[in-house]
Amino acid sequence: MIAEHLETVKKNIEESMAKRTGIFKDDPVQLVAVTKNHDVEAMREAIDAGVTVVGENRVQEAVEKHEKLDRDVTWHLIGHLQTNKVKQAVKNFDLIHSVDSEHLLDAVDTAAGKIHKVQNILIQVNLAKEESKFGIYKEDLPFLLQKADQMKHVHLMGLMCIAPNYENVEECRPLFREMRGIFDKLQMFPLMNSEMKWLSMGMTHDYQIAIEEGSNLVRIGTAIFGPRQY
Ligand SMILES: *Cc1c(COP(=O)(O)O)cnc(C)c1O
Repeated sequence: MIAEHLETVKKNIEESMAKRTGIFKDDPVQLVAVTKNHDVEAMREAIDAGVTVVGENRVQEAVEKHEKLDRDVTWHLIGHLQTNKVKQAVKNFDLIHSVDSEHLLDAVDTAAGKIHKVQNILIQVNLAKEESKFGIYKEDLPFLLQKADQMKHVHLMGLMCIAPNYENVEECRPLFREMRGIFDKLQMFPLMNSEMKWLSMGMTHDYQIAIEEGSNLVRIGTAIFGPRQY
């Protein structure tokens, strides 16, 4: 089942890429298989079917699975990160998508420094300014980008956003387009140690639109693993 779902997702990704225009037309798209609330057995199945990157929401859950999982895979943290979990997060994740404050940025830099690591991060943007969502407002981006760029143990690699849960998914399109515009503009931003490589946007219900509008990193759970059991 997982292998079949994965094939469908990959086919949809290709289809959406074919619809793209603009400067990102030929950018490859990286798939992050979101494994939160799915067990190690499901993760093995997905990895054996070709998944190379997994996304987890909670540090503790990821650490427990990391210990059990007898497969090589790249780990991304996609959920909100609390300061008291930073140390474990830095130890376990290759890319943290959800850095959204100066305070958190400082904590990541400090924790990474202690283990002589340079931690790859994305800055999470709350583009629609939803009260229920994490992420910084776009107006605060220059400050946080500059700050991240100067840190020794942080490597800034791009931006992440979560679109509002509109009933009509087409309503996400302008937001994704705006996000890609911001991402492109930041290529000119004077950064020394960072690269605007990843634009992480798109989940099960909206990844095709996100890709059409220039996402190059999609985080997909349900379409691969089915509904989550809580
Ligand atoms: C759970 C989650 C996803 C995946 O959601 P699906 O709808 O199952 O694809 C993607 N991104 C974030 C931040 C998530 O928390």
